[in-house]
Amino acid sequence: MAQQIPLDADSVTGTDTGSGVIELRPDLAYRRLTLVNVAFLGPAGAPDRGWVLVDAGLPDSETEIQAAAVHRFGVSRPAAIVLTHGHFDHVGAALALAERWDAPVYAHRLEHPYLDGSASYPPPDPTVGGGLMSRVSPLYPRGPVSLGSRLQALAADNTLPHLDGWRWIHTPGHSVGHVSLWRESDRTLLAADAVITTAQESAYAVLAARTELHGPPMYYTQDWAAAHHSAMTLAALEPDLLLSGHGLAVSGPQLREGLHRLAREFAVIARPAHPHYLLHPARAEDGSAYAPPVQPD
Ligand SMILES: [Zn+2]
Ligand SMILES: [Zn+2]
Repeated sequence: MAQQIPLDADSVTGTDTGSGVIELRPDLAYRRLTLVNVAFLGPAGAPDRGWVLVDAGLPDSETEIQAAAVHRFGVSRPAAIVLTHGHFDHVGAALALAERWDAPVYAHRLEHPYLDGSASYPPPDPTVGGGLMSRVSPLYPRGPVSLGSRLQALAADNTLPHLDGWRWIHTPGHSVGHVSLWRESDRTLLAADAVITTAQESAYAVLAARTELHGPPMYYTQDWAAAHHSAMTLAALEPDLLLSGHGLAVSGPQLREGLHRLAREFAVIARPAHPHYLLHPARAEDGSAYAPPVQPD
């Protein structure tokens, strides 16, 4: 049975600036949407094309993201939208916002089949999670999503468009082209779904919204060996601040200790006991044709 690493309330960081926009650094803020976070990179009041949106929430969140952007930057448009991966709760408003802002959308090349209309994600693992979430998650949309000509590949040299000092780190496992964003100068980590700070497996835990360190959301994670390696990569960074795709932003020594423990004891803490995608990682080319065997209820 997977566990979690509890974090004290004083690990939670950020300043509420109104309209649900929480500032973490002078040039970093995030908005908690239903179930998922989006991040704004760039100083408040940045000029037109002077900031970047990271991830794009659920399909119905265009208005909320737009309102949060206006709150932070006024009418100025982003230079780009960067997607950490292509799951439906991170790309929902991407195309609508890209059209509205006439902005490119960047994602890792390995994630492109799920973003250019050519493949759906492998289905959630029916053997993990238990309870309500694993029963309703097959109903969640898995694509295919098509961003058309807006879609661009992240640069091979790990730099990020319009973001000096930041670089992307390939952190596969949860999805094949999953990336985290890292800024060395102030040890700021945007880990998306490689590690998260709230439980995603039970509807009750999502509602209770305790702050605790977890491995990636289980039912969508495609390759557990890769996910473990990615957790080790992130722990080794020794971040001062972590913003995940789900849950509150956290900082401080408890975060670093927690990440190391998560990486060290990943098989016990983060991973379900016998996930299908441990021995049979779902590969990108499996696409929509791939399905894990049906488990007896
Ligand atoms: Zn995800
Ligand atoms: Zn997610």
